[in-house]
Amino acid sequence: MLRITVWNEYKHEREYEAIRRVYPEGIHGCIASFLEKEEDFVIRTATFDMPEHGLTDEVLKETDVLIIWSHGLQEEFSDIVAERVQHYVLAGMGLIALHSAHFSKIMKKLLGTSMTLKWKHGDREKLWCTAPTHPIAAGIPEVIEIPEEEMYGEFFDIPKPDDVIFTGWFAGGQVFRSGCTFSRGYGKIFYFQPGHEEYPIYHMPQIQQIIINAVRFCAPVKVNRAYPECEEVKS
Ligand code: ZN
Repeated sequence: MLRITVWNEYKHEREYEAIRRVYPEGIHGCIASFLEKEEDFVIRTATFDMPEHGLTDEVLKETDVLIIWSHGLQEEFSDIVAERVQHYVLAGMGLIALHSAHFSKIMKKLLGTSMTLKWKHGDREKLWCTAPTHPIAAGIPEVIEIPEEEMYGEFFDIPKPDDVIFTGWFAGGQVFRSGCTFSRGYGKIFYFQPGHEEYPIYHMPQIQQIIINAVRFCAPVKVNRAYPECEEVKS
């Protein structure tokens, strides 16, 4: 069994009727509902307003892969909780950061760069698969057409990824490293750009399949240590 926690800020869906129409159960509810169809996945959800943002030690201890979506409350997010999540990732918990979660405290702490990028509302994207042999690309076509998406463009200030599995092309001419993997400690991280809240992108079956594949890829590899530590070698 893989235990997955889907975390969403859950702000825009409550504030704007148009966004609520796209995600009546919130973005976390939409993601949970397609993940639940996988027989070996056990899903829980958590949101910003819960005590400790719903990311307590008890929850993280029972989480193999954490999925996060955030945008409007990045600065209000607790430093203590961000550090706690960082700790769990270093100890092996998988992390999938969606769309504007690139700029979350969790991602900035883990990746250590500014995580800045260029953006523009209202564009069209072709999401090209640029690492077709990667497990996250299994069953995914060469290109996915996203009729409406917010443009995210280079330069994207991230450390050099382990793999760039998807590269986004936008009708305005920009390109973006839209699907990237990183390793930190014993943890695997996948950043995935599609998913602006105004458009029904997480309802697209191919996008859902990428997230399902990413959960399997980011699941912890069994290691016999709880946390990376300096160790003196005797003998
Ligand atoms: Zn957005």
